[in-house]
Amino acid sequence: MLVVGLTGGIASGKSTTAKFLKELGFVVLDADRYARDAVRPGTPGWQEIMEAFGSEYFHLDGELNRGKLGRLVFQDAAARQRLNEIVHPKVIAMMERDIQAAAEQGEALIFVDVPLLYEIGLDKRMDTVIVVNVDPEIQLQRLQQRDSLSREEAQRRVDSQMPLALKVQQAEYVIDNSGSIEETLSQVKKIVDELLARSAVDMKKTRKNGSESELAPKLQNGTDNRGRRWRVALIAHDEKKSVMLKLASRFKETLSRYDLVATGTTGKILTEEVGLEIKRMQSGPYGGDQQIGALVADEEIDLVIFLRDPLTAQPHEPDITALMRVCDVHNVPLATNEATAAMLLVALAELDQENDCR
Ligand code: PGA
Repeated sequence: MLVVGLTGGIASGKSTTAKFLKELGFVVLDADRYARDAVRPGTPGWQEIMEAFGSEYFHLDGELNRGKLGRLVFQDAAARQRLNEIVHPKVIAMMERDIQAAAEQGEALIFVDVPLLYEIGLDKRMDTVIVVNVDPEIQLQRLQQRDSLSREEAQRRVDSQMPLALKVQQAEYVIDNSGSIEETLSQVKKIVDELLARSAVDMKKTRKNGSESELAPKLQNGTDNRGRRWRVALIAHDEKKSVMLKLASRFKETLSRYDLVATGTTGKILTEEVGLEIKRMQSGPYGGDQQIGALVADEEIDLVIFLRDPLTAQPHEPDITALMRVCDVHNVPLATNEATAAMLLVALAELDQENDCR
């Protein structure tokens, strides 16, 4: 989901754009509404304003006297800051709650209509921003007409705001609302199409990341997130013992984080020549593979490296097949050749390292 900030200047056409987005079926969160909700009688915001500014800023029915407080904060920077400190965190919390809800509903785009987006730094929270721009002369005329103001009054209101041109400079998308309503709407549609395409790519990425991280076990120093130390089984047929020695030496540090078990001869040489601490089972032909298979069946083994010799007949072939089968039954990672073993060990090392850094 993309969170799209929508902002503009006074009488620039932001509300028309927001209305059109709603008609297209998108969720449009409204910061002004949150600001009103944040100071409703009886809320913590209302209480804090009462304490900070006194009851003279409230109507008799308990409603905040916005006009009076507005005039005060317009000329008094300290009062403005105090008011913002009370209201902004509450607005942001409500906004985050609704963004979260929209994400859970699977919305592709969510628009957040915030008149003071740049002024209060909320642009940084957005994935992208649309600014509704208008020619300054048209802005003045529309404002005069809309609020029945003289040209000077209208100009004063425009001048009291952050210049629209500055917002335009910072925005990724700009809608020019100087023309007809149809022209504005066609620009909105074009941007929406582009954002939908972007969000589709984004969702694919999220899904991919999600499934990858779900599949990867979480390990820290050989221990998983349930506090269980992982156990790795090592087995090598005679022709593959030198390969096993090479791998074990290269990945000694990684392997030594885990509990290790091995068939008899493999375990002996790994202990003597690499210095790994290993629990040794019977030699393979004497039942070692079966013993390891039994541990896999009991879910006491988490990874098996079984370097098979595919070119030499083994007396205990049925045991070998049984061990591989039981790994598949219990979904235990199993490497039967050097390349796969190296990949599994690299993955193991990286998984553990990543978690070390957390
Ligand atoms: P070994 O057994 O480690 O005792 O040689 C390996 C096997 O043949 O399975």
